[in-house]
Amino acid sequence: MKKVCFFDTKPYDRIYFDAFAKEYNFELIYCESKLNEKNVVLASGCDAVVAFVNDSITAQVLQTLSSLGIHVVALRCAGYNNVDFKEAYGKVHIVRVPAYSPYAVAEFTMGMFLSLNRKIYRAYNRIREYNFSLVGLLGTDFYGKTMGVIGTGKIGQVFMDICLGFGMKVLAYDPYPKERAGVRYVTLEELFRYSDMISLHCPLTKESYHIVDAAAIRNMKDGVILVNTSRGALIDATSLIDGLKDGKIGAAGLDVYEEEGEYFYEDYSGEVMPDDELARIISMPNVLLTSHQAFLTKEALKNIAETTMENLRQYFDGEALPNEICYQCAKGERCKKEHLERCF
Ligand code: NAD
Repeated sequence: MKKVCFFDTKPYDRIYFDAFAKEYNFELIYCESKLNEKNVVLASGCDAVVAFVNDSITAQVLQTLSSLGIHVVALRCAGYNNVDFKEAYGKVHIVRVPAYSPYAVAEFTMGMFLSLNRKIYRAYNRIREYNFSLVGLLGTDFYGKTMGVIGTGKIGQVFMDICLGFGMKVLAYDPYPKERAGVRYVTLEELFRYSDMISLHCPLTKESYHIVDAAAIRNMKDGVILVNTSRGALIDATSLIDGLKDGKIGAAGLDVYEEEGEYFYEDYSGEVMPDDELARIISMPNVLLTSHQAFLTKEALKNIAETTMENLRQYFDGEALPNEICYQCAKGERCKKEHLERCF
């Protein structure tokens, strides 16, 4: 029986993984803490590690895993910006769940836009205090407005379909455009300039880091609604705060935050928030911030668990690893997987 050590797990994860443990004949060991250089030794005696979005899979973590005889890390997520791929290559195979439910994230994204535009979260709080006033809750119709979508992969495409269903015009930017009826690909500069609302659906890479910075915000329409359900560092938090303060940004929906690693998924309600920028953002009435929650549907959790278990089975059985990524194929380049069926 193979032993698999899970990091950063919560009860809602465990239910779905436990349901598959018997079928795959794996012993599952759950750690609540996020994987880092200090606690990686918790995996000793195990055959594999399963990690999540805010686990730090650094060079030192990978070296320790390799010295413990662990040569596979299964990411139970799609994004992989938290992995040192150069260090992993030749030592530790990295597998992931490339798609589990683009609908979960795309539907949540539209939920954020709707809630921000019509101030539903503010109305909820008011009514709980028997304040039935409508002052300050004015929104706009989505019909006929322009949505700018950055990154038109699996999630971006589902999200664009939802927008088209609302009767919106859709502008898109992606280095690899996929022609789609009703969608007009434009430059990033044009997207910022002409969109009433902007949604981020690209991965975090060297090229996309701070894709929304002070210059981009200056270029946007006054009162733009900005939603980020991808990765926090796509937006420069300092420029976002400035844009919200001077009214350039009308509202922001953030399911991710640049420095979320330490806080998201944890309960800090009894403490003073040490991150001043996060505290400032949360204090603003036109910001809706959630804790990297967009993926959280029953369907997504089941698919994540099933694909992760299957990725590990393929590794242990010496089979091809279709969901493996390395420093080459992560950038869309050809890698040895084409003939070896594994990246190395
Ligand atoms: P995908 O790989 O299917 O699509 C990503 C798209 O982004 C591709 O079309 C790619 O060409 C494009 N892209 C790459 N670099 C770009 C750039 N610099 N500018 C614009 N576009 C660029 O990925 P996906 O499944 O659609 O997921 C998108 C992102 O959503 C993931 O990278 C992840 O960060 C995030 N995500 C968040 C959650 C959540 O719970 N909040 C859940 C899943 C995924």
